[in-house]
Amino acid sequence: MTAAAPLLPFLPFAAPEIGDEEIAEVVDTLKTGWVTTGPKARRFEADFAAFLGEPSLHCIAVNSATAGLHLALEALGIGPGDEVITTTHTFTATAEVVRYLGADVKLVDIDPATLNIDPALVERAITPATKAIIPVHYGGLAADMPALLAIARRHGLKVVEDAAHALPTTSAGRLVGTLDSDATVFSFYANKTITTGEGGMLVTRDAALAQRAKVMRLHGMSRDAFDRFTATVPSWYYEVIAPGFKYNLTDIAAALGIHQLKKAERFQQRRAAIAERYAEAFAALPLTPAPMAPAGERHAWHLYPVQLADDAGLSRERFIEKLFELGIGCSVHYIPLHQQPYWRDRYALKAEDFPHSQRAYERMASLPIYSRMSDADVERVIAGVRAVLGA
Ligand SMILES: *Cc1c(COP(=O)(O)O)cnc(C)c1O
Repeated sequence: MTAAAPLLPFLPFAAPEIGDEEIAEVVDTLKTGWVTTGPKARRFEADFAAFLGEPSLHCIAVNSATAGLHLALEALGIGPGDEVITTTHTFTATAEVVRYLGADVKLVDIDPATLNIDPALVERAITPATKAIIPVHYGGLAADMPALLAIARRHGLKVVEDAAHALPTTSAGRLVGTLDSDATVFSFYANKTITTGEGGMLVTRDAALAQRAKVMRLHGMSRDAFDRFTATVPSWYYEVIAPGFKYNLTDIAAALGIHQLKKAERFQQRRAAIAERYAEAFAALPLTPAPMAPAGERHAWHLYPVQLADDAGLSRERFIEKLFELGIGCSVHYIPLHQQPYWRDRYALKAEDFPHSQRAYERMASLPIYSRMSDADVERVIAGVRAVLGA
């Protein structure tokens, strides 16, 4: 059979939901003439702390989650000779920031039931050089934070959560962003649970970490030194205390974030409803549905990864191809880092050392799950999956 043109318009794998409120706020920003970091970025930071329910949290808006992870690790003093442990089953940004600082990455396998980093393997990977752990809340399901935080406490390690998928997600009833880690970083990339086009938020309770990250976010410029000598700092005065970065979020992007954040709950409820419908519809099919959150916990449902069973009758490649022929976009999250040339070669990694991630990768496909999907779109995905599996 040749690939026929889909009968319906293509259903993309992901699409943001941008409303008139976001558009009006961006227009307002443009009209004020203040287009880079300013009052709207500050408002977005304050709104974010309020959203997490802890107004005293330090929320630092940045132009990507990658930037936020880099700033957090830099502020924690991670550097050459240090090791940082994270999951192989993630996007390369989680690990690359460790290399920016000249430190090394120790990748570990996942728990196949949750697809999140396995705390027992984290503990086994610790060496005298280990300084930090970066858990990823894969797909929006919280990693086992009580276990990871206990390991970190026992071994004196820092914890920086990669919460790129986890707005809003809970662990033991608390929102990710308010747990007892050193810092948490959210992403507002185009396909994330809320978006500013490009953007991120570094969240911490640690005042010193926040202070350092704010300075390094903008070229290592500080106005604090002046404060010691006089009550009023002239607006033009600053001191460069380090070779910092250019990681600030623009007010144009923050304008989007302010209104996306107000909709974050509704977006999550819609994605959770889609996930529930998928789970029910896929129960009798030869595939493993996406892992659910424990009772009472919230799952942000950034991703809906299914894994084909051995008797599914077709490869994951064919599964994605056939859904594409039906006009349905899918993706794969992720090609594990141990398979990527840079990471594989630098650390001489072998697939056998990551059996759960490897097995999940070989049979997984992420289905569309986003608030703009109509009920008909959801049923179309279900019908497509059924048809492709010959059910
Ligand atoms: C998207 C993503 C990032 C990077 O986010 P950016 O905002 O694009 O820098 C980091 N980690 C994970 C797991 C992601 O999915």
